[in-house]
Parts: sequence; C-alpha cells; structure tokens
Amino acid sequence: MDTGSRMVRASIGTLGVLGMELVFMDSPPTTAYLQIYSEERCRANCRFCAQARGSEADLTRIARGIYPPVELATVVERLGKAYVHGYIRRVCIQTMMTAGMWEDATTLIREVRRTSHVPISFSTHPLGVERYHTLKELGVEHLTIPLDACTEELFDEIKGRGANSPHCWSAHLSGLADALHVFGPGKVGTHLIIGMGESDEDAIRRIDQLCRDGIITALFAYTSVKSSRMHYNCCDPSHYRRVQLAHHLIYTGIDRYDEMRFEDGRVVNYGIGTELLDRVVRAGEAFQTTGCPACNRPYATETHRSMRNFPQKPTESQLEGIRKELDMP
Ligand code: SF4
Repeated sequence: MDTGSRMVRASIGTLGVLGMELVFMDSPPTTAYLQIYSEERCRANCRFCAQARGSEADLTRIARGIYPPVELATVVERLGKAYVHGYIRRVCIQTMMTAGMWEDATTLIREVRRTSHVPISFSTHPLGVERYHTLKELGVEHLTIPLDACTEELFDEIKGRGANSPHCWSAHLSGLADALHVFGPGKVGTHLIIGMGESDEDAIRRIDQLCRDGIITALFAYTSVKSSRMHYNCCDPSHYRRVQLAHHLIYTGIDRYDEMRFEDGRVVNYGIGTELLDRVVRAGEAFQTTGCPACNRPYATETHRSMRNFPQKPTESQLEGIRKELDMP
C-alpha cells in the first residue's frame, strides 16, 4: 500500500515533539495525539464537537487543540524514533464516524506498529466484539469509548436524539462491556466532559460505577470555544475540582460514592477525615490529567490562566488556587 500520499491529523504539541513544527512548550505531550484524516465531516452530530456533521467550525480543531493534516509516513518514522528516545510513551488514535473510518484507522495502526512497539490507545464509538478483537490483534493496547456525558439524559441531549445524532447511551454502555471482555479491566476507558449540566453527584456516581466496572475514566473540563453549538459557560472550576478530587479518592481506593454526602447535588462531605483529605489535596496528584498511562494532554481544554488538568504535579502556588476553588482554608 502506498502510504507516501496518505495523511493523518496530529496535534500541534505532538508535531512539536516530533520536530515537525516550531512551537514553544512548557509541558510537552508525553502521548502523541493523532486523528484519522478525512475531508468528510463526522456522521454523528455531538453538540460540543467541531468535527460534527452540523458544525461549521474548522475541521482542524478538537476542543482547544489544533490538528493540522500532515504526511503519515513522516509522522510514523519520527514517532518510532521519539519512542525509542523516551519523548513519546503512548500514541492515541482518535476517530470519527466516516465512510472510510475502519480502513483509515487500521492502516494508521499498522503504520504506527511498523516503526515501533509504542502502546496504542484507540478512541472510537462502539464497533462490536469482532472489531475489538481485530484491533487488539493489530496492536491496540487500550480501547476508549467516550460517554462524554455523565447521565443518560445529558447524553441524549448532547450526542444522541436531542442533538440529531445516531449515538445511543445503552449501545455505548454495552460497547464498554464488550470491550472489557476483549481487552480486560484497566485496558478500557471512557471520557467524561464535566460542566455540561450535571451535578457533582451525577458525575461522582457515574465515576464510582465505571471504576467498579474496571473502566478507566479520563476527565475533561467543558470548554466553550467559538466552534461550539452548546450554550453552556465553561465548566465552573469549583465543580471541576470537587469531581476531580472524588475521582482520585475513588480510583485510589480511599473512598466510595456511598461514603460521601451530597446536598442539592453538591458534595458536602467526602466521608473521610479532614486530615486525610488535606493530605490528598496537598499531594496534588488528584488534579493531574487522568486517563491512559502517560496521557498528559497539555492544554487540550485549558489555557495558562484556567488550568483544570495539570500535565505535571501542580506547584505550591497552583495548589493554593486549587484550595480556594475547593473552599479549603
Ligand atoms: S485518556 Fe488520553 S490517551 Fe487515552 S484515549 Fe483519552 S486522550 Fe487518548
């Protein structure tokens, strides 16, 4: 197959690490973020997505990130070297619902595998057990099926019927269950976008359930960008911090949803002592990027002035800001 003329989209930060773009980076990505290339828009119509069928936004945008098209052959050659030298520790392949998606995606996986053994994460809508087996055989290590919304109602409104989009909550849940059978616990993940109308309790209940099911949850803060067809403001930082903290407590096994207390949907007591809570907050890990190993997604949904997921341990002054957002002395 001639891959010389094939294209792929890669995030600007990824191109910076690969030496294909001049870009200032205080936090270089440790994962290479790629998206299959298509001139078609996605057949789905998620309201927050610039690539959606009904969006008029530039196809190079994913949230705050810019993904210009570049030559596939050059990217994979450089990727192989970047992995050997330790600059890149994972590749994340993002897909869209297009006619050629399966062929484009499997070609991309094969090409990445041709030059290195870098772990591959693959993010997709539900595809069915047979295709999950094929993906695993081709070398995908981690499969992600993004729910994006924390509740079925929000899902319907934002990426299902209410958005004139083909996605279905129950198909996503059964897709995650099928993927778990093929890839195993800890190797299947989902994305949740926080700040789309859910309460702390909605988000934390969902995170707790996903954790008990063996599914990794990556948190994103909803960001209102020009291309968005949603009418929400950006995610309230205090809401995001409370959910982030609960996520960390649940996934580290320190706490459970059942132990927490909520008032009007807001978490008012985490059910662990204040001393332990204080120690966890001071350690800072709770506020770092979540998801697949080595995925730090610098500035995917943040700006320097509004950091939600820290690509590395937050500094003392950043921790001070976090404590204010959590209403902690
Ligand atoms: S958590 Fe990171 S590496 Fe994993 S699928 Fe999501 S963006 Fe990709």
